[in-house]
Amino acid sequence: MQDILKTLSGKAQSKKRDFKQLAARVKKLKPRDADEVFRELHEEAFEHIDCLECANCCKGLGPRLQKSDIERLAAHLKMKSSVFIDTYLRKDEDNDLVFKNMPCPFLMPDNYCMVYTSRPKACREYPHTNQKNIRSILSTCVKNTETCPAVFEIFEKLPTMLSNGK
Ligand code: SF4
Ligand code: SF4
Repeated sequence: MQDILKTLSGKAQSKKRDFKQLAARVKKLKPRDADEVFRELHEEAFEHIDCLECANCCKGLGPRLQKSDIERLAAHLKMKSSVFIDTYLRKDEDNDLVFKNMPCPFLMPDNYCMVYTSRPKACREYPHTNQKNIRSILSTCVKNTETCPAVFEIFEKLPTMLSNGK
């Protein structure tokens, strides 16, 4: 996995144009068909990709934290929300709250998440490729091919899936 991750970003950037064209084709599908194509490829990818061998999203991307995420995490850590914010968070260029530093402060050396049961909603949903209305987040998915080997694989397999009439 580490070898795959070393070259992932470069490979995804070199294929960005192709991936954008594929996203444009998916955009033309009916919403339910587009969701079904992604759901199928998502399940296929995660049959053999183990997040615990990867953790690339926890090392480089990190979630935006909503108020409910902060309250849940602060309660988990037995801290006040204000202390949690001061200790771990900063505002990014869009004024969203994100972790001050990456890798995520809750990522453990064995790639387990220290706050797994209380992790932010965005962490639970990443890489979003099995979510409904996939057509609304296709540009995010293309961007995520640089970070997530599963999303990269999904885009690599899209041409075959689309030419099979899906
Ligand atoms: S909170 Fe957990 S799942 Fe989310 S980025 Fe940190 S280590 Fe990863
Ligand atoms: S969601 Fe993707 S980037 Fe994150 S750990 Fe799993 S395979 Fe890696």
